[in-house]
Amino acid sequence: MSQEILAVYPGSFDPPTNGHLDIITRSTRLFCKIIVAVTDNCNKKHTFCLDERLQLLCESTKALKNVEILPFSGLLVNYLEQINSFVVIRGLRVLSDFEYEFQMALMNRKLNKKIETVFLIPDQSYTFLSSSMVKEIAMLGGDMSGLVPKCVAKELKNKYQKNEYTK
Ligand code: ADP
Repeated sequence: MSQEILAVYPGSFDPPTNGHLDIITRSTRLFCKIIVAVTDNCNKKHTFCLDERLQLLCESTKALKNVEILPFSGLLVNYLEQINSFVVIRGLRVLSDFEYEFQMALMNRKLNKKIETVFLIPDQSYTFLSSSMVKEIAMLGGDMSGLVPKCVAKELKNKYQKNEYTK
């Protein structure tokens, strides 16, 4: 039964990290197709524009056949209905993620009682990893290996080195 299910992994992925990829890879073993839905939220200031985030995710997931990267805006429950999906995937790293994720899952269920949120736990080595921490390390010239895919490390370097020279 679960082999037939289309699941959606929403997030800002600003930028994608090896933690996100770990969750995507685990999801592909559980569901027949995964849509990574990249948020285009004008109220949120992103470091990487939508096109950059879409491109980086496409490049990082090209070996995974049942993954599609798509932009999305508006209410997640409406998007799920449009594409005929009822499963949301979210990653849980540490206890502090839980409160927000729990609230979101219950709110989505309140908006549409058919929605189920599936929480996946990444490999232990990624539980400390977040997009914001990765950006801080890149800004300070730290080593990105093992934290983000190669294409992301390259873009982070470009972005922050460029800023360095234009300061
Ligand atoms: P959002 O803006 O929705 O929090 P993110 O791109 O930061 O978007 O995260 C998307 C999802 O991926 C969230 O469920 C988040 O908890 C999860 N996530 C982020 N980093 C990791 C990680 N290192 N390991 C596992 N899950 C993660």
